[in-house]
Amino acid sequence: MGFNLAIDGPAGAGKSTIAKLVASKKGYIYVDTGAMYRGLAVHFIKKGIDPENESEIIAALDSANVNIGYENGIQQIYLNDENITSMLRNEEVGNMASITSAVPKVRAKLLELQRTLAREKDVVMDGRDIGTAILPNADVKIYLTASAMTRAKRRFDELTAKGIPCDINEIAADIEERDRRDMTRETSPLKKADDAFLIDSSEMTIDEVVDEIIKLCE
Ligand code: C5P
Repeated sequence: MGFNLAIDGPAGAGKSTIAKLVASKKGYIYVDTGAMYRGLAVHFIKKGIDPENESEIIAALDSANVNIGYENGIQQIYLNDENITSMLRNEEVGNMASITSAVPKVRAKLLELQRTLAREKDVVMDGRDIGTAILPNADVKIYLTASAMTRAKRRFDELTAKGIPCDINEIAADIEERDRRDMTRETSPLKKADDAFLIDSSEMTIDEVVDEIIKLCE
């Protein structure tokens, strides 16, 4: 069993940025589970599936094989052996992942892959249900959050820096809707595990959050 650090929290809390930095400082492998849900979402989009049609989603799972690999230390997602990493981070894929991740069979499909990685390696795994459902015995659990407005502002700055035009109020509404879906679904909703450390990063720098987590791992 490797060392397992679980980081959960709502959209835009900075989980991936923080998790990657902690992983590189500690020599752990970073596992982005959201990317796996996004990988399945790419499959559903390619098949023209209606995200609200649960039976179509379940039927399409049989023809999806999602895998994870690393190139120069960077996580890659493969869908039926095709590297689809560059397709994962757009809004359409994010929305499809947010809706379809509530389907229990979608979650069941990714559960074993996530647990196997954590069994074999020292990992920092980020997601929504890592501390509560995937790795209930993780060595350290973090629930990383920030106010909805802080999260929207960070996302706005990120998109603006890439030259993508956007509206901060629309981003905030989208973040709130994703939180609502993640927190209210029946299977593995987003919530803080009882034994997770709560970190609110609204007033913290990235380095402060990373240092705090590293201390908790010692
Ligand atoms: O974190 P990210 O935005 O990449 O995740 C995409 C979607 O996958 C989220 O909106 C969330 O609904 C879902 N997800 C999940 N459980 C995880 C990771 C992500 O339900 N462990």
